[in-house]
Amino acid sequence: MSLEITGITKSYGRFPALDDVSLLAEDGEFLALLGPSGSGKTTLLRVIAGLEIADGGAIHFSGEDLLATPVRQRRIGFVFQHYALFKHMTVTQNIAFGMKSKHRRERPSKAAISAKVEELLSLVQLDGLGGRYPSQLSGGQRQRVALARALAIEPKILLLDEPFGALDAKVRRGLRRWLRELHERTGLTTIFVTHDQEEALELADRVALLKDGKVEQIGTPEELYHDPASAFVFDFLGDSFQFPCEVKDGKALIAGQEVPILGSSPHVDGPATAYVRPDGFVVGAPDGPGFQARIRDVLLAGTDARLDCVLDDDGSIEVRVPHAIAEKLAPRNRISLAPREVRVWG
Ligand code: ADP
Ligand code: MG
Repeated sequence: MSLEITGITKSYGRFPALDDVSLLAEDGEFLALLGPSGSGKTTLLRVIAGLEIADGGAIHFSGEDLLATPVRQRRIGFVFQHYALFKHMTVTQNIAFGMKSKHRRERPSKAAISAKVEELLSLVQLDGLGGRYPSQLSGGQRQRVALARALAIEPKILLLDEPFGALDAKVRRGLRRWLRELHERTGLTTIFVTHDQEEALELADRVALLKDGKVEQIGTPEELYHDPASAFVFDFLGDSFQFPCEVKDGKALIAGQEVPILGSSPHVDGPATAYVRPDGFVVGAPDGPGFQARIRDVLLAGTDARLDCVLDDDGSIEVRVPHAIAEKLAPRNRISLAPREVRVWG
């Protein structure tokens, strides 16, 4: 079921945590809310869940006014960053909690609750661990219990607030794939909050990037990555270097070279800032086109090799180049670095 957020605002004192936020999560969509710390991601989830009251705006859930629906009837599953499991309850009791605390009229029978718990344990791949206490589980397992507990109430929408935020990088990557598969099986409209751009780009059907309580851009991972709407989006989605340049006739004049300008970033003739990704340079012989640089270190581990360079002009940069090129280079070599193409913002 689709979730339509229209013009939501929320201030704490005079501080606008959400400033006219509008976005639509389609039925069954996996939407990531991405943004730096303090950009309003958690506040937006809390407003949707009814844990926080918006100052203005509307939220419709498959056409119905969600903000007018009592919190208990919203059927929203919520998983937080920090395990909110009940420590004194077993995994089974944790998962069953929401079903057991239902009004008697709606409460499933004991047998139905057990069957549902077994089904959920299997769905989150924790078969056989129902008798354990949270302290006897790993961090990743606890978050899977939290997810099973959120699913137990048969929610119509799932809100996940940095659910893997407290876990180490390797466990996170494993859980990412698992969560995506789980989503494909349940088909639940899901809003997933993260400040990790890699996580958002890999997991989500679409990504909404928030900045200072506003939606900076919303689109597919490809759209955000390849057609960023602003310098902020470009910068947030990957490493980037910035150089002063001069725009003339649709080209950027940078380090004495004319370089093509990528994408739909608006540019008028005159001084501007050019943005380049670490893999956006052509390495040449000393005094070749582009920036003149001295290699400080050649790093050959990893998919791409990296050259740690000191620019003659100013500062240092670490560029990514194919292994075949890096293998011929050594610290203290002099090279030139020519941007292949740039993005330009004012
Ligand atoms: P994010 O989840 O993106 O890190 P939050 O939604 O938690 O951001 O916070 C957005 C802004 O609102 C932050 O500047 C934060 O300090 C402020 N904020 C959040 N909750 C409260 C609160 N209960 N009282 C006052 N300010 C708050
Ligand atoms: Mg948050």
